[in-house]
Amino acid sequence: MSNGRIEIEKLLRTNKPVFCEECGGKLSYRSAGTYVCEKCGHEELDDFGKIKLFLDENGPSPIHMIAKGTGVNRDIIELYLKKGRIEIPEGSKYYLKCEKCGCSIRYGRYCPDCARELSGGIASLLNEEVGEKPKSANDSKMQGKVHYLNKR
Ligand SMILES: [Zn+2]
Ligand SMILES: [Zn+2]
Repeated sequence: MSNGRIEIEKLLRTNKPVFCEECGGKLSYRSAGTYVCEKCGHEELDDFGKIKLFLDENGPSPIHMIAKGTGVNRDIIELYLKKGRIEIPEGSKYYLKCEKCGCSIRYGRYCPDCARELSGGIASLLNEEVGEKPKSANDSKMQGKVHYLNKR
């Protein structure tokens, strides 16, 4: 598990913009994926900022639409889902699969049940990767549409 985790952290870090596109000035982090140029005030977004902006403007969207609209690789979008930075809304046709039991979760890597089982006494370690099951689960419908989660 630690390997995959390091890969994710690395991928997310390399997505941060460093210099302003307009003037080449240094960007400083503001909030939620937004960066501001210290020289000219120009705003830049990292991948998370782009995804957030797209979702703010378009509402809940399937991953392939987000990828198309933002130009962000869908692997990256899934990484943010696994990290719990974004989540799939209730009533979606598409959910993530718990990496242990395969049930539907809206974000994270494990459903709460598996997380409890996996973590034993160290629940806090897994906290950010624990997802939430959709309340309106239509699992039987989804059963045939296995979505492979790329475990690196
Ligand atoms: Zn600038
Ligand atoms: Zn599970």
